Amino acid sequence: MDPMTISFAVLGIVFLVALLMWARARQQIRQSGIPDGRVVYQDTDRRHNVELPLVSPSCGLTGKPDYLVEASNGLIPVELKSRNCPRSGPHEGEVAQVTAYCVLVEDAFGATPPCGIIQYADRSWPIRYTLKDRKRLLHILDEMREARNTRTAHRDHQHAARCRACGYRAVCDEALD
Ligand code: SF4
Repeated sequence: MDPMTISFAVLGIVFLVALLMWARARQQIRQSGIPDGRVVYQDTDRRHNVELPLVSPSCGLTGKPDYLVEASNGLIPVELKSRNCPRSGPHEGEVAQVTAYCVLVEDAFGATPPCGIIQYADRSWPIRYTLKDRKRLLHILDEMREARNTRTAHRDHQHAARCRACGYRAVCDEALD
């Protein structure tokens, strides 16, 4: 085989592998149940931190949603949960977490998300996001900071996994990575 043919063969293999990886990534996204749209941010690989966190200096917030999807009605943060949705609906902390991601998207991209989404193993749950929800979340944040200052309540463990599963992670300034 001449060198030119070998080069074309190698290029063909590289292209095929890239195509298969792209198709697999699309399939994983489809199976995850996240909304239709272009995925512009993905932080689902905990071993390799490839995405920078979203930051809102004015609110003192930082966080990494699992996905950010550019849907037809705006940017939507999506949080994946490996368990089923509780019968009574999302926990308060989970709602606070996704609302915090909406605040981060709004401040980092200058565009108000129409909602956030919690994607459980069995269903997805949209979390409404309005100015009122933003204010409520910032109020909760203020209360948490105040409580921390007055009662000096601090993290009492070293378990990063516990923080990763915690609904207050996005609003906690002592969360472990
Ligand atoms: S993120 Fe970690 S330190 Fe913060 S409240 Fe949750 S478990 Fe505690």
